[in-house]
Amino acid sequence: MSYAIAIDGPAGAGKSSIAKCLADRLGIIYVDTGALYRVIGLAVYREAGICSDPDVICRIAGKTQVKLLHNEKGQRVYLADEDVSEEIRREEISQMASIVSAVPFVREKLLSLQRDMAHSQSVVMDGRDIGTRILPDAEYKVFLVCPAEERARRRLNQLKEQGLTGDYDQILADIKERDHRDMNREVSPLKKAEDAIEFDTSGMTAEGMAERIIEEMKICPKSC
Ligand code: C5P
Repeated sequence: MSYAIAIDGPAGAGKSSIAKCLADRLGIIYVDTGALYRVIGLAVYREAGICSDPDVICRIAGKTQVKLLHNEKGQRVYLADEDVSEEIRREEISQMASIVSAVPFVREKLLSLQRDMAHSQSVVMDGRDIGTRILPDAEYKVFLVCPAEERARRRLNQLKEQGLTGDYDQILADIKERDHRDMNREVSPLKKAEDAIEFDTSGMTAEGMAERIIEEMKICPKSC
């Protein structure tokens, strides 16, 4: 029997690293839905720069082909036939993803792609509205939280590990701006599903958090 684990929470709460650990431990597929919004954000950015005009976003999103594949490296995302899995991680694309994700047409376009992924196999899927809208019947629902200051520190450390620099105050401001936009948009805002269990990831490693989720929610590996 297949099952779904829905993980929602704000940017930088540790969703993707925890979801990857869970997927490895349980032998199931990890679906990072933020990457899909990032592909549309990238398409808009390439054609129109930083743009929040819904008409322009709808026009570009309407013709954008988004593909999601899983291979031994994990999930890869494509803009038409181009693998953009790395390029979508740029800071300006994070902002663009957040902007385009508030446009109802974009959310509708990506809805069936996400549901289809969970249809025939067990998945751990992370995002903002997985437990509330995409997979409301998911067997397990997790909502991750963490103070914005700690999330900004983590982001700064990630950048340092990649040999890049960043400004703490700017990163914190970007995180707060994204939180505000994600929580206050009209369609599918970020919010905890009534039946989700909340975990605070402050001071926790991804492995430790995955372990705790499996234990507390009594999740079985695919084979059990
Ligand atoms: O998770 P990630 O930071 O990659 O997501 C990028 C942006 O995409 C988020 O800031 C959010 O606005 C949007 N998103 C969303 N719904 C999801 C996943 C991501 O609105 N299920």
